[in-house]
Amino acid sequence: MLKNIVFDMGNVILDFDPRKMASFFTKDEEALDILCTELFSNKEWLELDKGVTDEETALKGICERVPEKYHGLCRDVLYNWYKYFLPIEGSYEAVKELKERGFGMYMLTNAALSIHEYRKNSPAFDLMDRILISSEEKMLKPDSEIYIRLLEKFGLKAEECLFIDDSEANIRAAEAIGFYGLIFDKRDPQSMIRRVDEIIASEKK
Ligand SMILES: [Mg+2]
Repeated sequence: MLKNIVFDMGNVILDFDPRKMASFFTKDEEALDILCTELFSNKEWLELDKGVTDEETALKGICERVPEKYHGLCRDVLYNWYKYFLPIEGSYEAVKELKERGFGMYMLTNAALSIHEYRKNSPAFDLMDRILISSEEKMLKPDSEIYIRLLEKFGLKAEECLFIDDSEANIRAAEAIGFYGLIFDKRDPQSMIRRVDEIIASEKK
């Protein structure tokens, strides 16, 4: 029986749109291209999410691939991007509705330790019972070990959980362990509610 909802954070709760966030720092198109390809989502970004590097080391690696004139910009963005990591319209309301319906509320996110700086960006964080952060576990989605860690640490059963993530790979990995899944599209936050109702209806049959 469905008892718990496990939410991804980026592109489920907060809008992870590198170009949009970077454009708060520069309007230069070349600089925006470089930030999108060399800073956001690059190797160092994943290492920060995995908790195996720190910002200064990451910045050094990024700057090796970037013209010197952008090094100051890269520093500024790496340390401040999350100030512009803002809520997806309608997501909080959908999450709140699920909380009010009595589901256990969990978050499983690939995120660097800087998440503690931007938890206040959405009130949805405060609706969570527990949050599992990749950089604190030294594991990343979609590796199966992080889903197993979530279940063990919080005492959950996969078959009682719906996992909501915008990444198909992350959902397939969760489903392989027995979770229900929803590949989330941030343009349609109410899909969370519809998926829950669909699962409940299927369990009644
Ligand atoms: Mg995501």
